[in-house]
Amino acid sequence: METILVLAHTEADGTLARSAREALHAARALNKAIAGSQLLVGLIGENIQAAADSIAACPATKFFGVSGADFTVSRYATDAAAAAAICQAAQATIVVVPATSRWNRVLPGVAQRLGGRVDTHVTGLTEAGGQPAINRWYYRQRMEATISRTQRPWFIAIDPGSQPACECGAGTATVASVAVNLTEADQRTEVIGTREPKADAQTIRPDAHLLFVTGAGWTKKQADGQTHVPEAEKIILEFLKHTRASLGSSKSLVDLGGEGQAVLPFLSHLNQIGQTGSTPRHAKGLSTCCHGEEPHTVGWRFINERRAISLDPNCGWARGKADVLYVADAFKVMVKLNELLGQ
Ligand SMILES: Cc1cc2nc3c(=O)[nH]c(=O)nc-3n(C[C@H](O)[C@H](O)[C@H](O)COP(=O)(O)OP(=O)(O)OC[C@H]3O[C@@H](n4cnc5c(N)ncnc54)[C@H](O)[C@@H]3O)c2cc1C
Repeated sequence: METILVLAHTEADGTLARSAREALHAARALNKAIAGSQLLVGLIGENIQAAADSIAACPATKFFGVSGADFTVSRYATDAAAAAAICQAAQATIVVVPATSRWNRVLPGVAQRLGGRVDTHVTGLTEAGGQPAINRWYYRQRMEATISRTQRPWFIAIDPGSQPACECGAGTATVASVAVNLTEADQRTEVIGTREPKADAQTIRPDAHLLFVTGAGWTKKQADGQTHVPEAEKIILEFLKHTRASLGSSKSLVDLGGEGQAVLPFLSHLNQIGQTGSTPRHAKGLSTCCHGEEPHTVGWRFINERRAISLDPNCGWARGKADVLYVADAFKVMVKLNELLGQ
């Protein structure tokens, strides 16, 4: 019989992130599909009761928890000890976690300690021939595989954004406290703070509804024979300010900086979408001044609704890569759009 444990950590404010609810949704789907399986929840954090209460109405039959000041922040030694203790207390055969940076760091180590195996970048949990199975993409999201394992415990890290979040309601959860024996060595690492970019410098937003892509056209000579990079910068930043969209780029545009050409200073290779870039998940995408070539659009696989603005009616977007292509000057369209958004 499979014992499916959803393992989550709380956020700094004691809540559960959407990614944790997504993992719970995936685990519940597996629990429904595998006859005789049971669903359990394990929580780690400074105070976990509020997080447990927020999902108390979920079909889990038992909640386990490790709490205290030692488990407030992400620290390998204490997180690994807490995760291993909960897995053992729950006698879990399958452990489903959200693939947060905190869990990604410790889960392979926990799997090793418990003699298990771990799979990352999982986008679905299912049943195949009566056995649990996972879905995972390969070769830059071109091929999807379904994989089963016989080794237990099986740790499964669910890619955030790949699942709907569970809608289970709140209530009062009874949490069984799990004891963790920490040594001095476990507590040696001290987290002294967090450094992050300023809000307006942070242009990559995985949770955004919209992906806004900029292509090399923004820096090319326009109809008047001149480039208009400062104007492009202003238009793009204003659009991001209005929409809080995530900013993506074509490879050509981010490469230009390395070649010493005028570029948009807020773009780096981290923004690059495509075969050698990222494959983000957003409900909608708007591409501007980009040609829509295959090595770029392969990164759009998980964008549900695609629109593009390009001067070229024969660009890749027009050849089945976009739902709607506006053959128009993106400078003019975006200025008008910003005007409307500002109203
Ligand atoms: C192995 C390999 C891996 C690659 N990986 C990636 C990858 O991960 N990501 C990626 O992006 N590329 C990748 N590429 C490169 C890719 O093939 C393209 O060269 C690149 O995506 C083109 O970028 P672009 O469309 O921005 O630029 P361009 O091809 O220069 O197109 C610019 C577009 O802007 C339009 N334009 C200009 N001015 C305006 C205006 N005022 N209004 C509207 N439109 C305007 C033009 O009509 C043109 O269509 C890869 C290539 C290879 C070989």
